[in-house]
Amino acid sequence: MKKIINTFKRAKANNQRPPLSFEIFPPKGVLTNDAARETASKLVDLHPDFVSVTYSAGGSKNSNATSEIAAILQDELDMTAMAHLTCSSASEEKITAALDDLQEKGIENVLALRGDLIEGQTPSTRFRHATDLIPLLKERGFCVGAAAYPEAHPTMMDLDEDLKYLKAKQDAGADFFVTQLFFDNECFYRFWDKAQAAGVTAPITCGIMPVMSKEQVQRMVFMCGVSLPGRIVKILNRYANDPESLRKASIEYAADQLIDLADHGVDGLHLYTMNKPEIAQQCLALLRDSWRQ
Ligand code: FAD
Repeated sequence: MKKIINTFKRAKANNQRPPLSFEIFPPKGVLTNDAARETASKLVDLHPDFVSVTYSAGGSKNSNATSEIAAILQDELDMTAMAHLTCSSASEEKITAALDDLQEKGIENVLALRGDLIEGQTPSTRFRHATDLIPLLKERGFCVGAAAYPEAHPTMMDLDEDLKYLKAKQDAGADFFVTQLFFDNECFYRFWDKAQAAGVTAPITCGIMPVMSKEQVQRMVFMCGVSLPGRIVKILNRYANDPESLRKASIEYAADQLIDLADHGVDGLHLYTMNKPEIAQQCLALLRDSWRQ
């Protein structure tokens, strides 16, 4: 299977379209591999360059599911997979066991995250930040992604300070970055300029999420601290009682974001699919149509 960094390097060297990727999450509760397999196989049919699988450190009782789904992607669906891994409450032994498991399953790409502390968990003294996890992954030969926040981490007031830590992740060995979702491309362009000025040279792939309801947007704004452009607010208000039209307008909005980002020559496009292949399919159809024109 492929190391994802080579996909970014090849696209840049050959002046190709930005690599496309999807995020999926393990089904809630007890893992049913069939449900995961069905979602994953529909997404793989859309020919992304890789698929990333989120990690839950305890909230949904299915943290082992990440490597199992990543293995299904690679072994059964012939798709490059990236496993997310968080460390905020982990011991060194737990992380070593997780890395053993990933290597036994042949997973070569890991998104190294601190994660958020879940109520009742004790913070790790060994792993305070993603920068503590990244070197371990590099020592074991993984290709390592890390998180980037175009509008700064939701608990960080100052983007410039956040960018110092982004650079620290690169210095610790991160090969590339995946951004937090954003709705305003201008925020990303400002961040991208500043990141480059701060010495960040690793590829940064842009995380985009088509929104499906006002409640979902409210959750994202609060959890992620992202800005809401007027057009999104108008879509949510106008179609408050018309889910079908809301869905169509949101997909068009996300596709417009992707098209604009690709036109600006970004390093990659990463779609937060929310495990809804039909929405990913409609976004990509609009994007690929624009590329054919
Ligand atoms: P860090 O890089 O440690 O950063 C956290 C905060 O500390 C930031 O404010 C940063 O500026 C600061 N900081 C960073 N390094 C240092 C340092 N060395 N010294 C001092 N301060 C520092 N969560 C999950 O639980 N599971 C997932 O699968 C998951 N996937 C995600 C995927 C993406 C693309 C993104 C963007 C986030 C994801 N998250 C996931 C959420 C993530 O775990 C949280 O945002 C978490 O609060 C921060 O993780 P991090 O790796 O960015 O942390």
